[in-house]
Amino acid sequence: EAKRNGRNRYELFRPELEAVSRLRRQMEIDLRRALHRGELQMHYQPIIEKAGCRISGYEALIRWQHPTRGPVPPMEFIPLAEETGLIHELGTRALNLACQEAATWTNGETVAVNLSPVQFKNSELVKTVALALEDAGLPAHRLELEITESVLLANTEGNIRTLQALKDLGVRISLDDFGTGYSSLSYLRSFPFDKIKIDRSFVRDMGESREAMAIIRAITGLSSSLLIEITAEGVETEEQFRQLQQEGCSHFQGYLFGRPVAAEHRMQEIGVHEIGLQERGPQERGLQ
Ligand code: C2E
Ligand code: MG
Ligand code: MG
Ligand code: MG
Repeated sequence: EAKRNGRNRYELFRPELEAVSRLRRQMEIDLRRALHRGELQMHYQPIIEKAGCRISGYEALIRWQHPTRGPVPPMEFIPLAEETGLIHELGTRALNLACQEAATWTNGETVAVNLSPVQFKNSELVKTVALALEDAGLPAHRLELEITESVLLANTEGNIRTLQALKDLGVRISLDDFGTGYSSLSYLRSFPFDKIKIDRSFVRDMGESREAMAIIRAITGLSSSLLIEITAEGVETEEQFRQLQQEGCSHFQGYLFGRPVAAEHRMQEIGVHEIGLQERGPQERGLQ
């Protein structure tokens, strides 16, 4: 009886499991091919600086246009790349593309590149970053590297040494998605981050949730004493923008200012946005 149940269960689940693992293997093959055929592209999303009332930089976000599936979201293929080790090649590619692109920007904007915690397992990471800067001819201070708290969870001492070596190159280090995951304020003591990015979920909820607002307040309060810049992610409404300014955020990113776009559309997008802003004047924009 037990045996039959067992077999039934087995027969029930096996085809599904096989389908999942077949799909996963196919995606891995496709991702490998994508790397070699240049199907991976970077898009750039503006980051607004309050003080200067200007675009201070862009976050580089990877995009994969699959030949038959269409666009595959990074939240789907980054984990796959991490599991298969392809993240090292993918990460290097992203870094090189972003640095080369940023080197063509004439207003000294920064480019922010996301690093996976898995990339910290590669002892060549610092060399890879140094080479990307050198090949592109990009001054180190124009590169920001975004990491998440998970980098400080495993191999903490080794990773902090790597972060310090990166900082010694002259690049800036940001703590991304702050407030989510295993968030602990003590991470801020373990390394002198240049910037904290408040996770989009807090910005999204700040209107309705006193807790979200209280966390934003706690983070911005800390920043003034620790001299860390604060970027608010996922700013979608004027009201969020106004409130976040009041709370002391220095930088803003979100659909209100612009979505991530391909490099060739970057100027066009900014133009449209700037016209929108100028029409209303600085007071109404709430920037001064
Ligand atoms: P992230 O680093 O936190 O990037 C911000 C994400 O929020 C991006 O999603 C961006 O498109 C989205 N976003 C920005 N403004 C808004 C907004 O106003 N509303 C909403 N709803 N979303 C907004 P995306 O591009 O899908 O990337 C997701 C995540 O994938 C990134 O989160 C990052 O963790 C990872 N990722 C993206 N590109 C790379 C890369 O080149 N390397 C690595 N290792 N990870 C990457
Ligand atoms: Mg990021
Ligand atoms: Mg983020
Ligand atoms: Mg986020």
